[in-house]
Amino acid sequence: MTLNLARPIGECPVSELHGPGRRFVFWVQGCALRCTKRCINPEALSLAPRHVRGAEEVAEEVVRRCEADGAEGVTVLGGEPTEQAAGVAAVFEAVRRAGRSTMLYSGHTYEALCARGDGAVTRLLDATDLLVDGPFLEAERDEGLRWRGSRNQRVLLLTERYSEEAIRAAPVLRGLDAVLGADGRVHVSGMHDRAVTRRVTAALTRGGRNAR
Ligand code: SF4
Repeated sequence: MTLNLARPIGECPVSELHGPGRRFVFWVQGCALRCTKRCINPEALSLAPRHVRGAEEVAEEVVRRCEADGAEGVTVLGGEPTEQAAGVAAVFEAVRRAGRSTMLYSGHTYEALCARGDGAVTRLLDATDLLVDGPFLEAERDEGLRWRGSRNQRVLLLTERYSEEAIRAAPVLRGLDAVLGADGRVHVSGMHDRAVTRRVTAALTRGGRNAR
């Protein structure tokens, strides 16, 4: 089983922007949903292979990064993670075995994912503690939301790992994470306007090359 990743695991950040506490964050490549023309991560939309790795290998590396960086959990974004549900589920199950929490972003609603009757998606939801669901809708855009960009999106507690109170007490942060890649390019990600992300990326990258 393989995973098509949007960036190498070694170039993904530990961040406080995508879920409770310090979390290791990674991105899968490919999204057939195309919920918005203003996707914050357009480089991750293509379904073509980008960084293809074995899911078990990715799981081991993710758990190692959590331990090394003191992350309380793992968050996966895309692309659309449910399009690679079996591989992401394998990573989440390993993260759970290591005693850490899991958080999933999907452009589909929880109800739509459940109704699909897809065993791999069900397995992924079973391995997920927190789900941010639903498409990004420009008309519902709100920069004051915790961990999401539009009001229709929800933060759903799929297990008892986190309480509603703990989620409400978590800070609403805006910001960007920057990671220097092995090839000298800068990967910028976070909770911010796409134009701001581009400007910061250009400023940080030698010669102004965009390198998310
Ligand atoms: S589902 Fe996610 S990756 Fe796909 S277009 Fe929407 S925001 Fe972008």
